[in-house]
Amino acid sequence: MSVPSTGEERRAELAANLAQVRARIAAATAAAGRPEGDVDLVVVTKFFPASDVRLLAGLGVTDVGENRHQEAEAKAAESRDLALRWHYIGGLQSNKAAAVAAYADVVESVDRPKLVGALDRGAAGRSVDVLLQVSLDPPGRDGRAGADPAELPVLAAAVGDAEHLNLRGLMAVAPLGEDPAAAFDRLARIWHDFLVDHPEATVLSAGMSGDLEQAIAAGATHVRVGSAVLGSRRTLK
Ligand SMILES: *Cc1c(COP(=O)(O)O)cnc(C)c1O
Repeated sequence: MSVPSTGEERRAELAANLAQVRARIAAATAAAGRPEGDVDLVVVTKFFPASDVRLLAGLGVTDVGENRHQEAEAKAAESRDLALRWHYIGGLQSNKAAAVAAYADVVESVDRPKLVGALDRGAAGRSVDVLLQVSLDPPGRDGRAGADPAELPVLAAAVGDAEHLNLRGLMAVAPLGEDPAAAFDRLARIWHDFLVDHPEATVLSAGMSGDLEQAIAAGATHVRVGSAVLGSRRTLK
């Protein structure tokens, strides 16, 4: 954002973007033959200030997502008076996991058993929802985030044993350079198999600004949308 805008201008901009995204979600939900309201929106506020989070809450947003611990922790603290659910969607280091579980309501990026104990300790006194992040990348790809589908049973068992964590579902990001529809179809099959043993895992978090339609067609129950609501992050640090 090169030109700083006033609060009123920013509110109008966010309201218009939000209306467009909600219309896209409604159209994709209907096109998939799914009931209205079947897909929840998590607005990804990373790189944008707490003042935007406040405006979004005023516009009816209930769920926000962040992917960097320090930034998320600070924004959640500044927004404590707002009735928002905070989703942590970023890569997790095990030495930060306990701190994340102290403010996050949902941790979507649990991809290895080592994180589970730390999250459970950090969540003590609260109850934190957990999604297991599944990798849709070929094994061995650089920067691959998420668990291999074959690792899900062990991860799910670890979360199941944790006192303060609730297993709620799966999360994934479509790999770069692949048709997202094909990747999300693969995810839908993984989720379908997973639900046999974990019927409580009813959340499928998939789809972002560029591919939410394909994710909803494949069965996503919630989408994580950043730039289509807040604007481009490219020029921001
Ligand atoms: C940033 C991010 C999003 C949102 O991406 P947009 O393309 O801006 O909608 C969704 N999910 C994850 C895991 C992200 O890191």
